[in-house]
Amino acid sequence: MSSSNPSMVVKFYGTRGSIPVCSMDFLEFGGNTSCIAINLPDKNVLNIIDAGSGIRTLGQELMQSGSKLPEEMTIGFTHFHWDHIQGLPFFPPAYMKNLKINLLMMGRDSDFDKLKKILFDQMGGDFFPISMDEMGANFNFVSMKHKVTQNSTGMSVTARLHSHPGGALSYRIERNGKVVVISTDIEHNPTIDQKIVDLARNADLLIHEAQYTTEEMVGKEGWGHSSYQQAIQVAQMSNAKKLIMTHHDPNHNDNFLTKMETKCQKEFPNCLLAREGMVIEL
Ligand SMILES: [Zn+2]
Ligand SMILES: [Zn+2]
Repeated sequence: MSSSNPSMVVKFYGTRGSIPVCSMDFLEFGGNTSCIAINLPDKNVLNIIDAGSGIRTLGQELMQSGSKLPEEMTIGFTHFHWDHIQGLPFFPPAYMKNLKINLLMMGRDSDFDKLKKILFDQMGGDFFPISMDEMGANFNFVSMKHKVTQNSTGMSVTARLHSHPGGALSYRIERNGKVVVISTDIEHNPTIDQKIVDLARNADLLIHEAQYTTEEMVGKEGWGHSSYQQAIQVAQMSNAKKLIMTHHDPNHNDNFLTKMETKCQKEFPNCLLAREGMVIEL
């Protein structure tokens, strides 16, 4: 799937769901919570989906690149559960004076002030020593309609609300004919969400969560997650070319995930389980 001049470079910085985990059993697939970077290499533009604990590593990489900091940096959120925002206070570029960082706010009932308040509150007095105002970067809060096209990069983003406690968004990101779709923290209940199948139609890369096995799903109705089987179904129904499953359950160690990956590949050969640091060029 790699090409000499990729239109988008996708890199996983956080592949874990719910809570970060750290032990020898979690080194291959990684222990940091949700964070995916989508780089537009010809434009030096960086888009980040979710600010779980993995965003800290991404920030460190950016700082080490010195003068090559992205000209445009946007963090979009699928939703605001802890595992998708907890890394923001530890994102080094956010402490750079006047660096502009766009924060894309959508979802819930699109009450903009309420959404801003969520990020401010997690850095409020009882929770963190530095407030968001004191960090230094110039946070530019932006909202988008369900579809936006960025003229300067030719990238278009379509968002669609899906079922998850409090609501969450799936994103379809298109550029130069290449398509990546991200759908995490999604509960297909009781059947596969046709809206998301349509959103993922013919995607070059579908990134879909798979927190549980079919057996583990029993008793977890309303928890807001999918099984490996359901992620594969979405990929098959949408005719996606490649599937990467992420948001691994904190109880699933490397041994478990390696076995699960082999099992899933029997049903959908072009699939992988996300590993921290994995790069896909489109
Ligand atoms: Zn999550
Ligand atoms: Zn969630």
